[in-house]
Amino acid sequence: MDLALLQSTLAELGQPDFRARQVWEWTARGAPGYAAMTNLPAALRGELAERVPFSSLALEREARASDGTVKALLRTHDGRPVEAVLMRYRDGRRSLCLSSQSGCPLTCTFCATGAMRFARNLTAGEILDQALHFRRGEGVDHVVFMGMGEPMMNLDHVLEACRRLPDLGVTHRRTAISTVGWIPGIDRLAAQDMPIRLALSLHAADEALRSQIMPVNDRYPLADVLAACERHYAAKHRQVFVEYVMLAGVNDRYEQAVQLAQALDPRVYKVNLIPYNPTGSAYDGSSREAIAAFQAVLEEHGLRATVRLTRGRDIDAACGQLAAKA
Ligand code: SAH
Repeated sequence: MDLALLQSTLAELGQPDFRARQVWEWTARGAPGYAAMTNLPAALRGELAERVPFSSLALEREARASDGTVKALLRTHDGRPVEAVLMRYRDGRRSLCLSSQSGCPLTCTFCATGAMRFARNLTAGEILDQALHFRRGEGVDHVVFMGMGEPMMNLDHVLEACRRLPDLGVTHRRTAISTVGWIPGIDRLAAQDMPIRLALSLHAADEALRSQIMPVNDRYPLADVLAACERHYAAKHRQVFVEYVMLAGVNDRYEQAVQLAQALDPRVYKVNLIPYNPTGSAYDGSSREAIAAFQAVLEEHGLRATVRLTRGRDIDAACGQLAAKA
């Protein structure tokens, strides 16, 4: 929902100030539409339905994976594709993976989103509408900005959406923003007040290798990115989660684990190893054994390391697979 349009429409209709809040409260709690907002005058509900689209996104398709993960392909009013994912865990956790852009201007070589056309930044309303789409079906408690796009390149809109997430049931502490290492964004995240988690897509501790698989490293080299993450930690006292996609023969060797462990201060960082999800790139994923061995080396060096549970791979909903394909 475009909240600015809601506000101006209510003002034009001569409605009292508290109306916008009433409408938002219903919406954030998962109301299916204006008709359900029973403390609003019926005529006003009809008027709003005509003048303020209840969602800025239209649902085009929804796919359900065997593990319960749901992927929605949504479209903006100007026809741009946006994907969002709901992950359900056995312990009852409900986690949303949201997109910040339609497509992505960066060109990480292992990621399907980087290979599709970049369209534009999403508005705060379009980001919230992804979450609301799922919130209308069930309660949600975690959000990660790990969908399409680079959230730090659209940080104003991402943070504006984050401000509203607690109304949907997602606290700031259960919200994470993932970045390729876009330094100005990391510093701005550290300077604002919400206790949001920072996640860094690191993927190679060696500068030359990182530049090869993530060209953005030429613009923001890893050494500078890590310094920015450490500033973030100093300001927010929250550990930074490092994402590391395991590519066979590329970044999964013993020496590379040692180099990674030496680059990361275990007080500041926790590592999440990500099994590679097929995207049609030239890479192969590391074997389960190679991932376990890499993890063991990190832990021997005192660095906490976990292996990410793969979700939604059979519907192309897993990390790096969002590309709005049929
Ligand atoms: N642009 C931000 C937000 C996207 S997060 C960022 O890169 O951090 C998506 C995560 O999935 C990133 O860590 C990304 O590197 C990872 N990823 C991309 N392609 C992948 C693949 N094929 N398999 C597993 N993870 C992948």
